[in-house]
Amino acid sequence: ADADSGAPTIFDKIIAKEIPSTIVYEDEKVLAFRDISPQAPVHVLVIPKFRDGLTQLGKAEARHEEILGHLLYAAKIVAEKEGILDGFRVVINSGPTACQSVYHLHLHVLGGRQMKWPPG
Ligand code: 5GP
Repeated sequence: ADADSGAPTIFDKIIAKEIPSTIVYEDEKVLAFRDISPQAPVHVLVIPKFRDGLTQLGKAEARHEEILGHLLYAAKIVAEKEGILDGFRVVINSGPTACQSVYHLHLHVLGGRQMKWPPG
């Protein structure tokens, strides 16, 4: 099966609060919560509450411009709330080759330690 089947993901259950998460920031359009498997002292996922076909960045269309901008600004708010505004990283894995595992677009906000470049 295609990794991106378009089927609902576990993030829908997190949005619906059917499964618990530690929410860091929320507004009417986006939810930000701690990654269950943190790769840094701060590791927060920022997702749109309404996926609207945005299973992965590689499937974005013109109608998604506004939510994409909102997600990026929400990442900055998260960094501010988490005290990492002096240095943080925002990552989007798009597609299987990039190791995307959940097909509901999400930004990883990472910080609280020295990052390395290039990423693996
Ligand atoms: P991806 O690999 O698709 O870029 O990132 C998916 C992320 O979702 C991973 O970092 C993984 O740890 C996280 N994740 C998967 N399932 C859950 C869950 O049930 N709760 C939370 N908080 N994070 C999850």
